[in-house]
Order: sequence, then C-alpha cells, then structure tokens
Amino acid sequence: MATPGDTVRTTPRHRVVVIGSGFGGLFGTKALRRSDVDVTMIAKTTHHLFQPLLYQVATGILSEGEIAPPTREVLAKQRNATVLLGDVTGVDLTARTVTSEVLGRTHVTPYDSLLVAAGSSQSYFGNDHFARFAPGMKSIDDALELRGRIFGAFELAELFASEGRDVSHLLTFVVVGAGPTGVEMAGQIAELARYTLKRDFRSINTSKVRVILVDAASQVLPPFGAKLGAWSQDRLERLGVEVQLGAMVVAVDERGLEVQDRDGSRRRIEAVTKVWAAGVQASPLGRTLAEQTGAALDRAGRIAVNPDLTLPGHPEVFVVGDMASLDHLPGVAQVAIQGARYAAKQIDRRIKGKAPQHPFKYFDKGSMATISRFSAVATVGKLRLSGFIAWLMWLGVHLFYITGFKNQVTALLHWAVTFIGNDRSERTATEQQIFAREALQRLDHGASELVSAPGHAPTREDLEAKALEEARLTDTGARGRSEVS
Ligand SMILES: Cc1cc2nc3c(=O)[nH]c(=O)nc-3n(C[C@H](O)[C@H](O)[C@H](O)COP(=O)(O)OP(=O)(O)OC[C@H]3O[C@@H](n4cnc5c(N)ncnc54)[C@H](O)[C@@H]3O)c2cc1C
Repeated sequence: MATPGDTVRTTPRHRVVVIGSGFGGLFGTKALRRSDVDVTMIAKTTHHLFQPLLYQVATGILSEGEIAPPTREVLAKQRNATVLLGDVTGVDLTARTVTSEVLGRTHVTPYDSLLVAAGSSQSYFGNDHFARFAPGMKSIDDALELRGRIFGAFELAELFASEGRDVSHLLTFVVVGAGPTGVEMAGQIAELARYTLKRDFRSINTSKVRVILVDAASQVLPPFGAKLGAWSQDRLERLGVEVQLGAMVVAVDERGLEVQDRDGSRRRIEAVTKVWAAGVQASPLGRTLAEQTGAALDRAGRIAVNPDLTLPGHPEVFVVGDMASLDHLPGVAQVAIQGARYAAKQIDRRIKGKAPQHPFKYFDKGSMATISRFSAVATVGKLRLSGFIAWLMWLGVHLFYITGFKNQVTALLHWAVTFIGNDRSERTATEQQIFAREALQRLDHGASELVSAPGHAPTREDLEAKALEEARLTDTGARGRSEVS
C-alpha cells in the first residue's frame, strides 16, 4: 500500500528484453541500471560466460565457476533487472514478443525495446557430423567434455600401455584452427603433457605426446600479422607443437582425421582427441529476424544492421556482438560490449526524449593471445608486442575482465599454481562429462524427454512405464555409447 510521500506510478515502465547473458547481454543490462526501465534478460544458461578462458577450464587450470558466475548473482543488486532462464525460439517483431522454452515449457515475454545478443556457435563449415568426434569450445559443457577427453586419453593410454599395446593414437592430440583459441589450446595441452603430468604415470612418457595444430591458412594467428604469426609458430614449435599449415581437415572419425594438403594429397592422422577451434556461425535467431525484416545475412549467418545497430524498419530492436554484421567488425568481446552499451544509451535517450546518438563507432583496444606460460603476443594500435611483456598485459586484461572480485582472487591463485608451480588445480573429470552430450543428442527431444510433459503430474504407473522403456532401450542397445579401444 502506498504511504504518504510515495510516488504512485500510473503508466507502466518501458520494458526492455535482452536476449543472451554473454558480453553483449550482460553489459547491455548493466548499462541500463540507472534508466527508468524494467529489464528482462532471457538466456539459455544461468551464467555469464567469459569465453576467452574456456581453454583454461578444458586443460585443468581454472574451474568453470571462475569463468562463469551466475548471472542472477551478478545482477542481484540491479533492482530493475530480472533474469529468466529460457532458450529463445522465436521473436515476433509485429506483436513485440519473445518466446522462450525450458524443458518443453513455453514462456512469452512482451517488450517495448529489444536487445538481441545471442552470440554464435561453432561452425564446421557444412560438416556438422565432425562435431561428434571433434568438439568445439563455445560453452562450459564443451570445455568440461574436452577436459574429460584430454585427461581420459592419458588414462586409457596408461592402461593399454601397461598391457603392451600401441597407444600412439591416444597420445596424439589434434587442434584444428590456428586462431587465438587453437594456439592457446595447443600450447596448453603441450605444457600439460610435458610439465604437469610428467611424474604421474608409470607406463607412458607424457613428454613424448604429439600435439598437432592444423590449419588450412598459411600462417598461425592471421589477424596478428606475419611477424607475430611467425614468432608464435616458432614458440609453439619450441614447446613441441607440430604446426601443419595449408592443411584442410576433410574427414573426422572416432580414431582420427584426414587432412588434405595444398598439393591435393590426403593423409591420415591417428588421434582419438581432437579439438575444433576453426570457425563460428551466428545464432539461428539471426535468420528469424532476417525473415521478418528482409535484412541480409552474411556467410557466417550474421544479420546486417543499421549504423545505429537497429534492424531495418525496427528502431526498437538492436542486434549486437557476434550476431551483427556492420563495417566488417570482428567477432570479439569488445565489439559486443561497446555495441550493447551504445544500444542501452540509445534506449535511455529515447525514453528521456533526447536526440539520438551518432552512429555506432567501435574503438579497437587491441588483441592478444597466449602461447604458453610467460609468453604471449599482443597488438595495441600500431604497437606489436611479444614475449613476457605481452603476457603480463594478457594477465592484467583478463584479470580485469573476469566478473566478480571472488573469481578474480581464485583465478589469480590458480594461475600462480599453474604458471609458477607447473601444476593444475582442476583436473577432475567424470565419465558423464565425456558422454552426456552424445547421450542427450540421441534423445528425440533432448532433456525435455527426461521430464514429464508440461501440466502433467506423472502417476506412479507413468513413472514405472518410463523406467521400463528406458531399460528396454538400454538393453536393446538403442541407447549406448561408443568405446575407444
Ligand atoms: C573459445 C573462445 C575464445 C575467445 N577468445 C576471445 C578473446 O581472447 N578476445 C576477444 O575479444 N574475444 C574472444 N572470443 C570471442 C568473444 O567471446 C565473443 O566475440 C563474444 O562473446 C561475443 O559476445 P556476444 O554477446 O555477441 O555473444 P556471447 O558472449 O556468446 O553470448 C551469447 C549469449 O546468448 C545466449 N544464447 C544463445 N542463443 C540463445 C537463445 N536461443 N536463447 C537464449 N539465449 C541464447 C548464450 O547462452 C549466451 O549467454 C572468444 C570466443 C571463444 C568461443
């Protein structure tokens, strides 16, 4: 009940819906904290993910919590923000609603302004079947699966070597894609094998593992230029990484992969553990928006936006980050952050009746990639840096951008363990980490098949029937898992 002195609102507040809790979604929501709006952030995960450090979760340096704090906790003090879990399956630009789903339950959220920041997923360039054996690295699930696969390969190798069997296919790791993620991943697997694990096994010599970095391009780290690319390649090779350039992956299976060299010849690499770090494809929501507005999609599925990041004919809808195509801006965190802040400011100005801002202008703060401990490359403006100085810059920038003081402190401790002590704090891996993705994909309707239908309270008979069906599928082999031998 209103008390004297309270302001009683007669008109509802402007409703902003934000799709995604990544760099664009989170920074856009935060930028609206002082605006007279109600913000609803809808995302398919409950966390904000710091993707640039996924490779450190995969290789046992950091825990998943350190790079993926709960969005709800991050926004707890922002009174005008509400967080909803949901996989957005539709946007109706005419009705101004967003439809999302969780475990078969549908939810519709109306908006006055919409900020779309659903990012991108891994691209296999039309060969999606590669994903089964060469997981990408875009989510916490991906990183934990890879951690399980990497550490699991060493375990199987130890077991089989103790029986006198050949284990070279288990001790060969292939990383596809020599961009920053691939370079960082290859460097970390090599350091893990050569330093961290070298005393832990009895039947295998982990310092003899092969780590192969494959790319169809002619240099590593193309966006960093030829000089830093050559420097990085040299560093990787000194670490024991085999860099194979001009080599295109044409087939992938459980035991290895096939590459085609520039002369057209094909060869096979026997390797159980493969990591795909080669390309990205914008969220399919881009297509939904393109169909309703006629906006063009580029080859990576990014939607063409106006210079103020809005959709053609829809000044109330902003698209930012990896999903948006404007002036060939790169798919990096700063583009998403700056774009989202720009969109938030535009919404704020509109509801205050102020004139719109100038078109969006990206300020390039530079790029960096680590090669190994104490060694990185960085470009800042015209400056080209490599080695320890670049690594210190990498450390400072990443520490600054990790969300939350608690996570910054624990990440720093874990980095000390790894970079000074050559150890890893997060080596735990379980069977479910490795096989759950495939098991879920074998279900016709994913996880929603494992819970009761919406509005349906299961009876004891229903549950028994379901258990019997599960047992039948398992017994008949309709649900199973592949073995590596
Ligand atoms: C392994 C890796 C390393 C990287 N390293 C760097 C780096 O070193 N430096 C750098 O600048 N950039 C780096 N990037 C790129 C950078 O992370 C992205 O450019 C940035 O995250 C884009 O921000 P975004 O908001 O557009 O998308 P994201 O941050 O990917 O966020 C997308 C959000 O949308 C949600 N979402 C997606 N689809 C739906 C849906 N249908 N319904 C609801 N929610 C949905 C996701 O769950 C997520 O919360 C890296 C990326 C990866 C994968």
